[in-house]
Amino acid sequence: MITYCSSCGSKTEPRLVAKQDLRACPKCDRIFFRNPKVVVIALIEDAGRVLLGRRDIEPGRGLWGLPGGYVDWDEHPEAALVRECREEMQVEVEPLELLPLQHIIVDDEGIVFLPYRARLVAGQPAAGDEVQEVGWFKPTGLPPLAFPSHRQVLQRWVQDLATRSVA
Ligand SMILES: [Zn+2]
Repeated sequence: MITYCSSCGSKTEPRLVAKQDLRACPKCDRIFFRNPKVVVIALIEDAGRVLLGRRDIEPGRGLWGLPGGYVDWDEHPEAALVRECREEMQVEVEPLELLPLQHIIVDDEGIVFLPYRARLVAGQPAAGDEVQEVGWFKPTGLPPLAFPSHRQVLQRWVQDLATRSVA
């Protein structure tokens, strides 16, 4: 919540704007609209295995997840994806395809979650920022995951693999 106005420093007050409970500045009348954040994650697949990292930060420290993170305000989501994979896994990836997006409400935040299928183009995966270790996992041996959103992407991947092996 925005407690102080970022324009004039006055204490904000609640205001109903277009049916939304927002904060507004009583002095300069600035309204603090609330927008979702954008998160990208990468599904990097190789020979029927997926690349995951064990998180070294909360939430979900010690559990596993796909590489990714928040998109900077002026950054293309695909550029954010490449940057996050470089930081967390020390690899270069190429985004291939946007998978079905998810809309998530976590605590008091709205998140638009963009999962990309991506291809490893350079580097050996190794633990980078905020990651304890990295590993390749088969669909039958996925480790404990930190987030339902990642689980959903991986479940879809597992189904996809099953369909591909039948075809
Ligand atoms: Zn103000």
